[in-house]
Formats: sequence, C-alpha cells, structure tokens
Amino acid sequence: MRILNKKMLARIQRLVAGNRLSCESVNRFLIDYLEGSLDERTRASFETHLHDCPNCERFLDQYRHTVSIVQSDTEIEISDDVVRRTAAFLKHHFDDDA
Ligand SMILES: [Zn+2]
Repeated sequence: MRILNKKMLARIQRLVAGNRLSCESVNRFLIDYLEGSLDERTRASFETHLHDCPNCERFLDQYRHTVSIVQSDTEIEISDDVVRRTAAFLKHHFDDDA
C-alpha cells in the first residue's frame, strides 16, 4: 500500500481539476500574466489557480518582490541558505519528476 503524501494529493487534485491550470502552467504564464498579455480565459484560469493554490500565490508574491528589488537598484545580500531554500522550493513545486 502506498502512503498518500502531499505531492500525490496535489497530482490527484490536478487530475480532478481537469482543464484547470497546473502549477507548471502557472509558472510558464507568470511573466505574461504580470505583463497583462494573457487572453481573458487564460488569465481567469490563472487567477483561479492562484486563489486555490497557496504555493503559487506565495511564489507570485516572491517573484513580484524580487522584480521590485531588481528594478529599484537596491543591493541586497542573499545568504546561501536562502538560495538553497529557494532552489528547493522551486524544485519541489515545479519539477514533476522529482
Ligand atoms: Zn499551484
């Protein structure tokens, strides 16, 4: 018997969700979304996914925050630990084969 873990649960939710956007799609459409270049239907699906998926919502917030730091020309120091945790977060949430 396999133990149901969070990752499997997320896959099941995605299967049940049918044509709704996956986390991978959200990642792919992120820049278009922020630039406002998604068509109406895709944008609505994107926002529905964000509403239901705390991980992607958090990712979008972090992305926006990062972009604002880069655009502000502020120099910040990022510790190795933050880099490691960010990489682990991205791998965990967007690498389906992991
Ligand atoms: Zn998601």
